[in-house]
Amino acid sequence: MRGRHRVRQVINYANLATPLGLLIAVAGRARVRRGEHGLLYAHGYRIRFPVAGAFTVGNVVITARPDGYLTGALLRHEARHATQWACCAGLPMLPLYLLAVAVSFALCGHPASWNVFERLADLDEGGYPRHPSRWRRRTLEAGGPAPGPSDDLDGKGVV
Ligand SMILES: [Zn+2]
Repeated sequence: MRGRHRVRQVINYANLATPLGLLIAVAGRARVRRGEHGLLYAHGYRIRFPVAGAFTVGNVVITARPDGYLTGALLRHEARHATQWACCAGLPMLPLYLLAVAVSFALCGHPASWNVFERLADLDEGGYPRHPSRWRRRTLEAGGPAPGPSDDLDGKGVV
């Protein structure tokens, strides 16, 4: 494990984010095991909230999917969330994340497209669409300039 991963691991234990993640994983009857970079993987989570392929609380990456799901781009995305928990000093991440969801909804009607945490964790690697903001959409509907490569009008992803 690299030094920065060890630092993140220690911070997220100390700020209680990882213990909260473990509680959530146990409440959802997930199987927890050690993963890469000081993360803990919790597979087989049985609670249907939040609706996501995976979510991260502290250093615990939680998913309803079976072991082997947390790899590649998705794992990199979730690992960035673990770093965000450390940067937010743990539990303050919860209200800050909810605020970011509300801001994103207000800006584009999607919880992730304009969510600062999801954008910093990489929208594409998290599997999220890039919805244009409401004002950009209005400009396009009014016959404004053609959409650029980062505009995803139908939310199905840019091919
Ligand atoms: Zn995410």
